[in-house]
Amino acid sequence: MTTFQVPTTIASETPAPPSIPSTNEKTNSEVVEPPTITPEPEPSATPEPSITNDTPIEVHFIDVGQADAILIKAPTGENMLIDAGNNADRPEVVSYLKKQGINKIDVLVGTHPHEDHIGGLDNVINSFDIGQIYMPKVSHTTKTFEDVLIAIQNKGLKVTTPVPGSTFDLGTAKCTILAPNNSSYEGLNNYSIVVKLEYGNTSFLFTGDAESVSEQEMLSKGYDLKTDALKIGHHGSDSSTTQAFLDAVNPKYAIIMVGKDNSYGHPSKVVMDRLQAKSVAVYRTDENGTIVATSDGNNITFNVKPGSYSSGETTSSAAPEPSPSVTVPTNDRIVYWTSSGKSYHYTKSCSTLSRSKNILEGPLSSCPKTDPCDKCVK
Ligand SMILES: [Zn+2]
Ligand SMILES: [Zn+2]
Repeated sequence: MTTFQVPTTIASETPAPPSIPSTNEKTNSEVVEPPTITPEPEPSATPEPSITNDTPIEVHFIDVGQADAILIKAPTGENMLIDAGNNADRPEVVSYLKKQGINKIDVLVGTHPHEDHIGGLDNVINSFDIGQIYMPKVSHTTKTFEDVLIAIQNKGLKVTTPVPGSTFDLGTAKCTILAPNNSSYEGLNNYSIVVKLEYGNTSFLFTGDAESVSEQEMLSKGYDLKTDALKIGHHGSDSSTTQAFLDAVNPKYAIIMVGKDNSYGHPSKVVMDRLQAKSVAVYRTDENGTIVATSDGNNITFNVKPGSYSSGETTSSAAPEPSPSVTVPTNDRIVYWTSSGKSYHYTKSCSTLSRSKNILEGPLSSCPKTDPCDKCVK
């Protein structure tokens, strides 16, 4: 078992928690009761034939809009939660965890003190048994951050400061902390705790909002960054996912946690172009909703099909759409759709159809879709 650093002072304005280990901390002699797991339907994606494990690990990228909340359910019953969404997402995250049969969160990670990551942490702490809590050693003068500290203190818990390079087990999965590698940064994002999870021959990398400065430090440290599934840093912002970092991670899959029509223009075009150039399959909460990745130790499968490579940046300079060559009454023009999509489109070249193979077409009156595409139907 890894020995963790002594408890840290969690904020300058609050007294340091007692340095004796809390009763919630696991010891070698403690019997850990596995939480009750609600049976779930089989994931729709079928794993390729291989040596499969009966109890795969699940990684749930919970759709909380422009925010992060990631649940990891280990095969042996342990759970880890990385971030808990905005303040407004609090009831949603707690109810999602309850539906998953979660009683205890063995490892809780608050990547950095921004509201879109720790907003829901206080409610999670108040609603579940909590084991270890990891937070970076940085404070933030917001009500949100204060609420989290109060919840931690009220429950008699203590915060563990992440030590880069250190490891801990989540059941049979191994977790390694890769960042932050420095004690002082200009912005809060680079304080983000970065965790690599390895299960059998598969791996996941959770990056919070780590930006290029932190990515460069991870590269300089010589960590083994090669990972199958990368949670893209900072919601796909161009502050993160530098070419050098992406090349070192060299993922097969990327997951972007991003709000539909967010005001930041996330994900950025430069990041989406980098992912497309490397043919990385991209899953994104703005298009896919909640994404569940399942690993049997050899293969990772997803509950949804990959999303598009389109960025969240507005293309105001784009040329106007060409007029349809067939003149039809505007109330019954030719439209395009796919059997699985929810919208109809005025143009076959609409970016949201760019990855669709079987595009159907016909007059609007006979189209089974009722939702106009908000990109090309104006
Ligand atoms: Zn942030
Ligand atoms: Zn964020």
